[in-house]
Amino acid sequence: MPIRTQILDSGNFVYSPELPVNPAFSEYLTFATRVMHQWREVQEAWDRSPYSEDVRKRKAQVDELFKDFVKTFKACFSLRPVRQERMFLPVSRFFQRQYPIRDPFSILHCDVEIPLHTVHDFHDHHALARINAALAKDAPFPWWQRGTYGQPCYLFGEWVWELKPSEVGQSSEGLVLSFLELSDKHRQATDPASYGPSVTGVTSGADFIPENLRVLAWRRTGGKCGKCRGRQSLHFDYVKPLRPGVEPTPDSIELLCNSCYRKKHDLD
Ligand SMILES: [Zn+2]
Repeated sequence: MPIRTQILDSGNFVYSPELPVNPAFSEYLTFATRVMHQWREVQEAWDRSPYSEDVRKRKAQVDELFKDFVKTFKACFSLRPVRQERMFLPVSRFFQRQYPIRDPFSILHCDVEIPLHTVHDFHDHHALARINAALAKDAPFPWWQRGTYGQPCYLFGEWVWELKPSEVGQSSEGLVLSFLELSDKHRQATDPASYGPSVTGVTSGADFIPENLRVLAWRRTGGKCGKCRGRQSLHFDYVKPLRPGVEPTPDSIELLCNSCYRKKHDLD
């Protein structure tokens, strides 16, 4: 199962064209872009010819520029002041307020100490549509940052999830299924009153049921048993055993709790 991360809001803020722009921040962005550009350039030159006197001088200049940059902006644009600045919203709050997102936005990632940031732009409509789909729990959206364990992460619902190494390369439907189960479990943990008995894990029932059909079956009943609406120990099952040579369809799969599953198959 993927791991729920805190990446979404950890040092990440949204500054949107709609929010009033702080002029000092525009200046900061221009300066930061210049510093980062020169820094990268000199680093490459250094890798090519570390003993060149010219490169050494240039590197010293950029170091000075960087120090200057930090001195100028540390007070305004490291993590703490950014948190207090009204034009920046934590990403989760931005998603809650703006969903469905129609306008381009950028995420600013800031560091704790150094006011150096990276900006990730979501400016094309394709990306916005995919983010909306992820927020609506329709399809996971590959997150641009790696997780704590260095594995790929996905936005799905209100969280960013990190895959376990064994889950990397899993089909998109397989991921959706894991994320749906996990989101439900989490919601139930934070709001037990509305959820009744606990989901104690979905056993795959018949392993050969294709994942896309399992996703559809799960969605049809909202992750509940199709017979009693229970949420305890769910199984995927064929409504009727498949005849040989017949392809399963969404309607041929159902989600059953353990007790209904056992009743159906006369296992008690
Ligand atoms: Zn049941």
